[in-house]
Amino acid sequence: MIPEKAPEKAAGTAEKKRFYRKRVPFFALLNKIKLWPSRRGLLHGIQSIEIRGKTATIVTHCRKSFTVADSRNSRAARWLRNKWYAEACPQCHIPRWKLEKYASTYFRKRWGSQLKAPP
Ligand SMILES: [Zn+2]
Repeated sequence: MIPEKAPEKAAGTAEKKRFYRKRVPFFALLNKIKLWPSRRGLLHGIQSIEIRGKTATIVTHCRKSFTVADSRNSRAARWLRNKWYAEACPQCHIPRWKLEKYASTYFRKRWGSQLKAPP
């Protein structure tokens, strides 16, 4: 198998592109990106994520708390990879650099960081 090459960095773009595998563990990805795409299309900032085996309790900066299952194919996992959200949650105050970092993060099938599962 021939690995996919990383696309050329756009000229004049200071922002570094990041690549992750599509199959990275969901919780490892959440722990790294610290963003949560809600069903209503709001992108929340994750304040804390507490992993307990196959489930994790997430607390957002706007004080929402919920439990999610570890699934790469879940709605949230897909939306996070596809960057499907309408707007950033106004109450979470996600810093611009974080949104820009997320915008320059790409998911590839055969190329990119595998992200180790959190301990
Ligand atoms: Zn929020």
